[in-house]
Amino acid sequence: MHDPTTTVRAAGGALTGPAPRSPGQAADPGFRARLDGFLTAQRALLDDARWEHGTPPVTDLLAAAGSAGLFRDAWAATPADRPRALWHAAELHAALARVGNGAPGAAVLTHLDVATRLLGALPAADPALVADALAGRTTSALAATEPEHGSDLARLTTRVDRAGDRLTVTGGKWFISNAPFADHLLVLADDPGAATGRPGPALLLVPARAPGVRTTPLDGLGHHGLTGRVDLDAAPVTTVLVPGGHGLLVLMRHWLHERVMLAVRMGELAAAVLDHAVADATARHTFGTPLITNQHVRFTLARLTAETEEVRAAARQGVRLLAAGSCPAAYAAACKHRAAAVLREVADEALQLAGGDGYRTGHPAGRALRDALGLALAGGTDELMLQQIDRG
Ligand SMILES: Cc1cc2nc3c(=O)[nH]c(=O)nc-3n(C[C@H](O)[C@H](O)[C@H](O)COP(=O)(O)OP(=O)(O)OC[C@H]3O[C@@H](n4cnc5c(N)ncnc54)[C@H](O)[C@@H]3O)c2cc1C
Repeated sequence: MHDPTTTVRAAGGALTGPAPRSPGQAADPGFRARLDGFLTAQRALLDDARWEHGTPPVTDLLAAAGSAGLFRDAWAATPADRPRALWHAAELHAALARVGNGAPGAAVLTHLDVATRLLGALPAADPALVADALAGRTTSALAATEPEHGSDLARLTTRVDRAGDRLTVTGGKWFISNAPFADHLLVLADDPGAATGRPGPALLLVPARAPGVRTTPLDGLGHHGLTGRVDLDAAPVTTVLVPGGHGLLVLMRHWLHERVMLAVRMGELAAAVLDHAVADATARHTFGTPLITNQHVRFTLARLTAETEEVRAAARQGVRLLAAGSCPAAYAAACKHRAAAVLREVADEALQLAGGDGYRTGHPAGRALRDALGLALAGGTDELMLQQIDRG
């Protein structure tokens, strides 16, 4: 007899499920072993309950991953080292996608491949910020979206001003991943008076716990407690990371990277949900036979497997293009757009195939559906991906 409790418990953790598939073209056994060791050692930290209720242990997870050397492993010391580092990052995101709850993977992706990767690419950023982030001692968050303006970032209302020899920033941001845990904020703000040297959007470094900064956790369908609203009231700017006029251009280049890595994560999450759906349909009996003997069920799973493999292959190609420094913006957008659609479809079908069990809180298909909805918004919405693909 099918036991829904067992199903949920088993599928809720990658540690009890199938081993993560390596997204990398050239597997690195040393890194793989460190990653496996980390997932086993941090089983309690990754436990679903800690990410669903109360304050998620983001700081502890980043500290543990930093101490285990996983962020350093995914960081290029030289330009020639870039391909190796990117494949390690992809492998890290793929492994965390198998954990069964999207939140730890989202926290790590934001830390490594949004904020730290961006800081590492900006000459104005103090190298100590990157060193601390790679060690898991501190974290940063990219604060671009405003309550009034998300997709259209050219209409920023947050602005930077000069007060004597100090720069301050005033405005509001929301849905900022990792903001409740951040030590530093990378704030996109308008600079109408050329306080940073030139007018237009600038990217600024703001200490997250300075006077004039207030961060409030926002709750959502998923990623419980991970995103936050940030209110800035003449908050101090410690560094002009990118002067006015160039902030948005720098972010647009950076988003190629983020979108490909999000596609890696979504492809692996879809594969994990499918593996669970196959196991579940094999174990569950209806009308006297295993559910999976039904041709409709088999064909559904086969079609979804084909779509998932397409997404995974496209994301791998995206990593190759990033490594070569030649990933077109439209390609990164296509990867993200397709991955979000396929993840949503896989999660939706898997939930239906699980019957009433799929509707239970905590079922992996339900969690993945929740994540798919969030990932169709974060890093640029589905519609903005289509706009980018259309522009080429
Ligand atoms: C889980 C999660 C994590 C996030 N993390 C971050 C983060 O770390 N940092 C950050 O800065 N932001 C973050 N965001 C915010 C996210 O980037 C924005 O929600 C997103 O860019 C959309 O902006 P908006 O919410 O203001 O929607 P709007 O821009 O108001 O759009 C509303 C709807 O209209 C559509 N739309 C808008 N313009 C057009 C158009 N021209 N043509 C057709 N359709 C259009 C959009 O696609 C969307 O469906 C996160 C969001 C989520 C859900």
